[in-house]
Amino acid sequence: MTTDHPRIPLAGVIGHPIAHSRSPLLHGHWLRRYGIKGHYIPLDVAPADLSDVLRTLPRMGFVGVNITIPHKEAILKIADIITDRAALIGAANTLIYRKDGRIHADNTDGAGFIANLRQNAPHWDPTRGPAAVFGAGGAARAVVAALIEVGVPEIRIANRTRPRADALRSDFGAKVMVSEWVQAANMLDGAVTVVNTTALGMTGKPEFRVPLDGLNPDAVVNDLVYTPLMTQFLAEAKDRGCTVVDGLGMLLHQAAPGFERWFGRRPEVDDATREAVLAG
Ligand code: NAP
Repeated sequence: MTTDHPRIPLAGVIGHPIAHSRSPLLHGHWLRRYGIKGHYIPLDVAPADLSDVLRTLPRMGFVGVNITIPHKEAILKIADIITDRAALIGAANTLIYRKDGRIHADNTDGAGFIANLRQNAPHWDPTRGPAAVFGAGGAARAVVAALIEVGVPEIRIANRTRPRADALRSDFGAKVMVSEWVQAANMLDGAVTVVNTTALGMTGKPEFRVPLDGLNPDAVVNDLVYTPLMTQFLAEAKDRGCTVVDGLGMLLHQAAPGFERWFGRRPEVDDATREAVLAG
């Protein structure tokens, strides 16, 4: 049924479980800040229901959704239009319901990763030398795609499970060099960008322990983990004189393109945004 009254735009985040997600706090902050009549809600959807739910939401006024664990890969089989970068990464995190009824899927994690480094390490020049990336999971794929896009000359990767790192080389090409996990510290030699994309160092997980003796004090060091904000890895890198950037900014920046498409305003990522998310 059509209506003459404008609908209040709805968006949300679909995951399973979803209670831990900070996205509702973040989008809620932006909606209030810009006085936008809209809502963003957490949606706990089991994998078996994902397709049905996604086809139903637009009929209820949803203009799009974020997609998180465990649906980020499966969504590519459901969406009608998939951006090249989402296809290359093999996962999507942002859906837009188009007026023609088709579901558009994109991956904004890589853009969020780059925007976080540019904002918090303004002198960072990724073209100046190699990047060292620890881990080869879904987040690493987005990080590697983004590093290639901004012109990093060489990307060194090590992962506990070697075949996942090898897959990154075959998918992303000759700029990617794979190292053994036990020799991962060697990747630091001359690296100007250093990123932990593993889940290590997160509250409740073992620490990320890699000897940092080879770390160049000029390097920009980033941890994708944001609970805690200052991981042991970042604290050690800071002690060695490096510029360190925590993972929260990536979470904030990856959300901005979706908010803009759904609610019509590019949101700012600043201290107030961080505080709103941390306070929740
Ligand atoms: P994922 O696909 O499950 O990959 C997990 C990665 O961590 C793999 O490389 C895995 O190695 C490694 N790992 C896990 N436990 C390990 C252990 N005990 N020893 C060595 N390596 C271990 O997860 P993901 O989506 O890539 O996420 C990875 C991390 O990034 C998580 O902490 C997540 O919260 C964070 N993240 C942050 C943002 C942000 O916005 N800041 C965005 C996305 C993800 P194996 O392949 O050997 O298992």
